[in-house]
Amino acid sequence: MAAPLPTTTDALVGVYRKPPVEFVRGAGVELFDSDGKAYLDFVAGIAVNALGYGDAELEQAMRNALDGSLIHLSNLYRTQAGERLAEQLVKKSFADRVFFCNSGAEANEGAFKMARRWGRSVGGAPKHEIVSLRGGFHGRLFGTLAATDRPQYRAPFRPLAGGISIMERDLDELRVALNPETVAALIVEPIQGEGGVRVLERTFLQELRALTRERGILLILDEIQCGYARTGSFWAYENSGITPDILTAAKPMAGGLPMGAVLVTQAVADVMQPGDHGTTFGGGPFVSSVALHVLDRLSDPELLTSVRARGDELRTALVALQSSNGKVRAVRGMGLMWGIDVAEPAKDVVARAMDLGLLICSAGEHTLRLLPPLVISRGDLQRGIDLLARAIG
Ligand SMILES: *Cc1c(COP(=O)(O)O)cnc(C)c1O
Repeated sequence: MAAPLPTTTDALVGVYRKPPVEFVRGAGVELFDSDGKAYLDFVAGIAVNALGYGDAELEQAMRNALDGSLIHLSNLYRTQAGERLAEQLVKKSFADRVFFCNSGAEANEGAFKMARRWGRSVGGAPKHEIVSLRGGFHGRLFGTLAATDRPQYRAPFRPLAGGISIMERDLDELRVALNPETVAALIVEPIQGEGGVRVLERTFLQELRALTRERGILLILDEIQCGYARTGSFWAYENSGITPDILTAAKPMAGGLPMGAVLVTQAVADVMQPGDHGTTFGGGPFVSSVALHVLDRLSDPELLTSVRARGDELRTALVALQSSNGKVRAVRGMGLMWGIDVAEPAKDVVARAMDLGLLICSAGEHTLRLLPPLVISRGDLQRGIDLLARAIG
């Protein structure tokens, strides 16, 4: 047995490595440690802090949501803010109905349950299988872990939830393996995040859509990381011209407060009856009020235009870096979500970047990942790129 990981305090379960710094303050796209050192943040709380730090309007929205208002009610009672948020999400997407929960994995668990329920309702033999793709990350709860392609996360918890399998990102294989008699749903990230920032080709997504539609299989898009303006369109699926049957969202939804959502078509919503699913906190008044503000901000056409412009600048800079620096093996991404394959272990570059005052994270052993706040300015982006080039060496 490996020795337990050292944690910050012995009062925490040691599932996270001891962090090298403690941040005490944030402003714009920068974080500050207890010595006052500034760090340009290209992690954004893992794609959560899309509006950066200390955003005056977000803070005001939080104060307004507190001011004499209800924090929590439970889903035994109506919640105005939650209903309004659902209406806005329906208006701004393919979906007809929304279910709220509290995290990404919880959203995917909800999507899996809906897919199973649907698979039992469509006539013929019940279809129950859920299929995910090689490199996919869909969460670490009991059901979603079985759909997450990370051997080291999975191995200690076998046997994993049944009826969930992982297939290659290969059309020929999927054509053979997606059995219309048994498969209820295929779940994919339009851009795989944890799996190395892999942009699924537009034509590949279109083929998956055609194949699933033809075979009566639901297509679930996990946009927990790549949705909500990250790619420069509000939803990542807009870049491929397809729409899913189910979409899951979470990370940036509520400005740093925990929230997730399952967006579904009417056909999927129709199979869900009272009692089929539920959660105590989901869609509560406080978090939903804040999420209404965030949705407004991130779906603003000006913000989306700015993300596309910054995304183009980042693409140009990273392509140039790759051609001038032999240590950069490949760059992949879209909008403000990028992966950079490097020769040496990613964690060493992440550590050097931190010394230089730039926060980046990894997505696999040899892949760096950039997820800056979506409000980043051209100058800060350039500054980050310069620091990144120095950190790569
Ligand atoms: C982060 C993430 C999840 C899991 O979300 P949690 O809130 O950590 O449970 C699922 N899918 C994708 C694509 C993610 O990036």
